[in-house]
Amino acid sequence: MVDTIDHEDSATAPIIFFCNPARPAVTVPAPNGGRRWEFMLQADEHEKDLLDDAAIVRCIRQALQTLPASSPARQAGESIHILRKTVYTFHATLATTFRADRIFLLGDAAHLMPPFGGQGMNSGLRDAYNLCWKIALLGQQDTSPRLLESYQQERQPHVTQMIYFSASLGAIIMPTQRALALLRDCAFISIQRSKPLRRWLAEMEVKPRPVYRAGFLLSGRSSGQLLPQPMVTSANGQRLPLDQLIEGRFCVFTLYEKQAEISDRFQGALWQRLKLQQICLCPTQEALELAKANLPAHISLIVDESGQLGRLWRHHPNQLLLTRPDCYILAAFHSSQLASIEGQLERYLFPTI
Ligand SMILES: Cc1cc2nc3c(=O)[nH]c(=O)nc-3n(C[C@H](O)[C@H](O)[C@H](O)COP(=O)(O)OP(=O)(O)OC[C@H]3O[C@@H](n4cnc5c(N)ncnc54)[C@H](O)[C@@H]3O)c2cc1C
Repeated sequence: MVDTIDHEDSATAPIIFFCNPARPAVTVPAPNGGRRWEFMLQADEHEKDLLDDAAIVRCIRQALQTLPASSPARQAGESIHILRKTVYTFHATLATTFRADRIFLLGDAAHLMPPFGGQGMNSGLRDAYNLCWKIALLGQQDTSPRLLESYQQERQPHVTQMIYFSASLGAIIMPTQRALALLRDCAFISIQRSKPLRRWLAEMEVKPRPVYRAGFLLSGRSSGQLLPQPMVTSANGQRLPLDQLIEGRFCVFTLYEKQAEISDRFQGALWQRLKLQQICLCPTQEALELAKANLPAHISLIVDESGQLGRLWRHHPNQLLLTRPDCYILAAFHSSQLASIEGQLERYLFPTI
């Protein structure tokens, strides 16, 4: 693994996989004009063979030679300044349990995966984002410790998928047998001909989505899904990413048309205890101004010009969405089911009430 600097193209450069069976490699743009290179050590090579500066320059030049002469990456690679170099072995492994009493495993301590999917750090961040608010809620509101059990229930299936995904990508990129590499190349040439398949691969839609099927979830088809993250406009005209408005709180989202009938139905002790925030999605700026005049001040009004949030109501325009502090949908329900949702939530979080 080599980090190089002084690449003018690094801000816009793509990730490039060099699927050369003689020396599989990958290069990834890094901040501040940097680039990371990873080269596979062959069975008959020693670590020190590849850590020699001249060998590194040779590997980089060999890889770049396979790109078209006009490629910005090839031009940017003409002068090579090595910043850091090391040899590492990657693993695909998963802890059988993420928790022992008061100790939790997160990140690489819980799971190790090959780097091809670029998901090692991301998975660790998802772990932390999943667990931290649960520990805080337990400490502040004395919720049932059962909430902490949901950490492994929710995170382990997704990291398992990510490990398989990263290992499969590695198996595609790294064959060193020429026949296998030829088969792979033929398959990719066919895929290139199909626009949807090409997009599916190029935009990494093949990557497993972080959807939860079990854990701290109540009811509704979309429960367990992560909210989108559009830029929204708030009542005071500020443009901000949705999660900044959510501020790590439980929220209930309603469409503008339904807001008036449920505005005062979230005043009970349970909702106060969870510091619930009510968010009303308005279709236009004019509707937001109208809502400002007619709805209680504690309701946060937003407009999402991108339409991403509105799509959640496409098939169920009457539903309310209850979301968790980590922006996952806890329940999708009709206002007539509110008492049942309150009961489920109380039994899960505060079973002794
Ligand atoms: C070459 C390479 C490329 C990668 N590329 C990507 C990528 O593109 N995208 C991506 O998402 N991930 C990538 N990863 C994975 C990513 O780097 C790791 O998943 C991530 O750093 C794990 O974070 P962590 O905090 O769980 O563990 P670590 O980063 O290992 O942090 C653990 C820390 O704990 C410290 N520590 C250990 N023992 C003790 C102790 N007893 N007391 C106190 N401190 C201790 C260690 O010194 C270390 O600082 C890559 C990894 C490698 C090696």
